[in-house]
Amino acid sequence: MKQVFLYGVWIRNCAEQPIFATFARYTKPMEESKKALNFIEHIIEEDLADGYAKSQLRFRFPPEPNGYLHLGHASSICLNFGLGEKYGAPVNLRFDDTNPAKEEKAYVDAIKRDVEWMGFHWDKECYASDYFQELYDWAVMLIKQGKAYVDSQSSEDMAKQKGTPTEPGVPGPYRDRSVEENLDLFLRMKNGEFEEGKHVLRAKIDLASPNMLMRDPILYRVLHKAHHRTNTDWCIYPMYDWTHGQSDYLEQVSHSLCTLEFLPHRELYDWCLDQLVSKDRLRPKQREFARRNLSHTVVSKRKLLQLVEGGHVTGWDDPRMPTISGLRRRGYTPESIRNFADTVGIAKRENLVDVSLLEFHVREHLNKITPRVMAVLNPLKVVITNYPEGQVEWLDAENSPEDESMGTRKVPFSRELYIEKEDFREEANRKFFRLKLGGEVRLKNGYIIKAESCTKDTDGSIIEVRCTYDPKSRSGSGTEESLRKVKGTLHWVSVAQAVEAEVRLYDRLFSDENPDGHKERDFMEFVNPNSLLVITAYLEPSLKEAKVGARYQFQRLGYFNVDTDTTGDNLVFNRTVTLRDTWAKIQQKG
Ligand code: ATP
Ligand code: MG
Repeated sequence: MKQVFLYGVWIRNCAEQPIFATFARYTKPMEESKKALNFIEHIIEEDLADGYAKSQLRFRFPPEPNGYLHLGHASSICLNFGLGEKYGAPVNLRFDDTNPAKEEKAYVDAIKRDVEWMGFHWDKECYASDYFQELYDWAVMLIKQGKAYVDSQSSEDMAKQKGTPTEPGVPGPYRDRSVEENLDLFLRMKNGEFEEGKHVLRAKIDLASPNMLMRDPILYRVLHKAHHRTNTDWCIYPMYDWTHGQSDYLEQVSHSLCTLEFLPHRELYDWCLDQLVSKDRLRPKQREFARRNLSHTVVSKRKLLQLVEGGHVTGWDDPRMPTISGLRRRGYTPESIRNFADTVGIAKRENLVDVSLLEFHVREHLNKITPRVMAVLNPLKVVITNYPEGQVEWLDAENSPEDESMGTRKVPFSRELYIEKEDFREEANRKFFRLKLGGEVRLKNGYIIKAESCTKDTDGSIIEVRCTYDPKSRSGSGTEESLRKVKGTLHWVSVAQAVEAEVRLYDRLFSDENPDGHKERDFMEFVNPNSLLVITAYLEPSLKEAKVGARYQFQRLGYFNVDTDTTGDNLVFNRTVTLRDTWAKIQQKG
């Protein structure tokens, strides 16, 4: 069986303007298809051909526990764990926890929960903080070799002394301190004798290097902050560059994959490893791929934290957030996020992926797995004048046309029903296939009704439609009338048995496609003030006992799930995504 996928991505044309490129892709089921290798897989294949044993492959996903994981991380997770699955190689979950000022145990727990929920299993749970002693010992080794020194300049002086990309730096006044003095000062830094900012440890590399990061980078700084794992054992903390490669080396990670902004750090990564790698152990490689950016949102923990702290959302797991926990709460499935990551793949250049591609994937998955139910979001009362008062019929309704094994359920039909306000007009042209005066529609799983008249309130809005029904037309009853075709089919619920629920309808969190892409304006200016609409909806009674997390298709409306705010007497649903995409529209625009 072949499946057709339509998808699109924002890319930049040669004039650096964003354009929306759409593609149709025919895919065979996974086992049949031989997917083209991405450029990281090419690197690995070359290494295997050059003598790496498959058993030497090891990867890691290295989040800093300073926030919740977002969709950008999801692509890194899918890349690293995907490689692990592909090559049968272990993948470590490594917490890059070297900045106690911003990191917390709560973030560690949330990150573990999210990676697990995505369906991946890590081999070892590692922490950079577990290597603080080794890192310190290696720093002492560098000092003894004359390759590191304690600098006591202010950060402003240090910046001046480092030069500019076009001018070499000049040695600062402390660059030639003796080994003894450096050892003494570094020990005293470690022992907590100095306040923050008084001294730092710098590598002594090359002040004329064209790579500014090689101009005596800082390796350690004093930070009098308790750490969520090492508590107050340390008051000096290693910098990223002095930590990452060594952590990779200690864990014997073969390929350390990071985002493109680390490309200039690669030289320093290699320099640090040069100082300590022994020949009989595997030397990790840093390789870079492009950051994943998504339209109409921001993917940066720091910026997402601003939204949380500013009260623009209810928390990291607000269903509007592009965090994994937000998407989970919104009703997304791990499969849809993984399929999205798979479709986009990884790139060497940054681009902006349209969020509707993600929505396309969640729709596609939810279509397969969710039962269909009926709910009315914006009710208009219909009275069927020739239906006996007090009578209730429990009609058979199929749970899924996609999957017969989902079975059937009963829905009550009675004289008074709700339909959507948008589904009725007093007058309409021939293209309006819903209910209009004198016109007929079928009520899903039920009867054909005809609108006879309507009543209005004083300001002219319609409050009730009076209809008649054809008693022989019930769906599935086998009569000739039951097979009669009318143009429109509407969803509905019976008023007396309807269950009230709070329904949360979400729109894009940012009104701008690329809130982060404006030089002169802050991304916060583009927060969409109307990203949440809370309404009361009427649901068929089978949903009364719906459990938190359960996902449904509300027929003709979209996919919805039961929110964690649900309590015994207050049912809360989130709209995960509307039923139809804005795909076609976007394609036309593009
Ligand atoms: P943030 O700015 O959101 O904090 P980060 O890169 O600082 O992002 P880390 O926790 O350090 O976040 O990242 C863990 C891993 O996830 C890193 O390897 C990082 O490169 C990767 N990653 C983070 N954001 C993205 C993204 N938008 N696209 C792809 N990979 C990402
Ligand atoms: Mg970071």
